[in-house]
Amino acid sequence: MVLCTKWLILSIDLRLMVSENVKNIRHRIQSICERVKRNVDDIKIVAVTKTFSSQLASDAVRASILDLGENYVQELLKKKEEIHDDKVRWHFIGHLQTNKVKLIAGRVDLIHSVDSLRLAVEISNFCSKIGKTQNILIELNTSGETSKFGTDPDKALNLAKEVIMVPNISLTGLMTIGKFSDNPEESRKDFTMLREVKELIEKDGIALKHLSMGMSNDFEVAIEEGATIIRLGTAIFGARQYNN
Ligand SMILES: *Cc1c(COP(=O)(O)O)cnc(C)c1O
Repeated sequence: MVLCTKWLILSIDLRLMVSENVKNIRHRIQSICERVKRNVDDIKIVAVTKTFSSQLASDAVRASILDLGENYVQELLKKKEEIHDDKVRWHFIGHLQTNKVKLIAGRVDLIHSVDSLRLAVEISNFCSKIGKTQNILIELNTSGETSKFGTDPDKALNLAKEVIMVPNISLTGLMTIGKFSDNPEESRKDFTMLREVKELIEKDGIALKHLSMGMSNDFEVAIEEGATIIRLGTAIFGARQYNN
C-alpha cells in the first residue's frame, strides 16, 4: 500500500514535470529568438518519446506539443495506436532499415533519417504502391563520429539532386545530430555545417525548408545557427532509463 502510494505520487510528479519543463523550454526559446531576431513560430519542438510511456507523451501533447518523435519502428507504431490522436504529427528520427520501410512510410509526417539513395528509393516504391507521398529529410553526419549514421556532408548535394528525382517522396530539409559532448558549443560547427550545406543545395535550385538540429543539451546553439526543428527528449521528460 505504502509502495503503491509512493508510486502514485511519483507518477503525478512526473506528469506535472512535463508541463513545467515545456513552459521552461518555451521561455528559453523565446529569449534566444529575441536575441538572434528570429520568430518563435519558425521553431518546431519535436518531443522525443523513446523509452517514455504513452501517458507521458500525451502530457506533452496536452502541453501543446503536437509533434512526437521516435527512434524505433515498433515503439512508434505502438504509441501511435495508444495515443490515437489525429492532431499529433509523428516523426521518425532513428536509423531506418530498408526492411522496415513498409511499416513506417506513409504513416509518419516526416522521416528525418534518409541517408542513402537506396533508402529513398525503397520509401518511394512503397509509397507509390499505397498512393502516398512521404516527406523526408536527408541526415548528415556532420561531426564525423563513426558511431553515427548519416551521409557524408561532401556527398549531400549529389544525394539531394538524386533524391528529388525520385517520385512519391518530398525532400523538405536536412537533419543532423551534433557532437556528443557536455559542452553545447562543441556542436556549433556541426550545426553551422548543416546550414551551409543547405545553402549550397539551395544555390542549386532545390528549396529546403527545414534544418532539424539541436537536442536537449544543445538546442539553444542550434537555434542560433538556424534550426527550424529541435528534437527534445530529456529536457521534456527527464532522464531516460533503458532497462525497463
Ligand atoms: C534521443 C534522440 C533525441 C533526443 O535526445 P535528448 O538528448 O534526450 O533531447 C534527439 N534526436 C535523436 C536522433 C535522438 O535519437
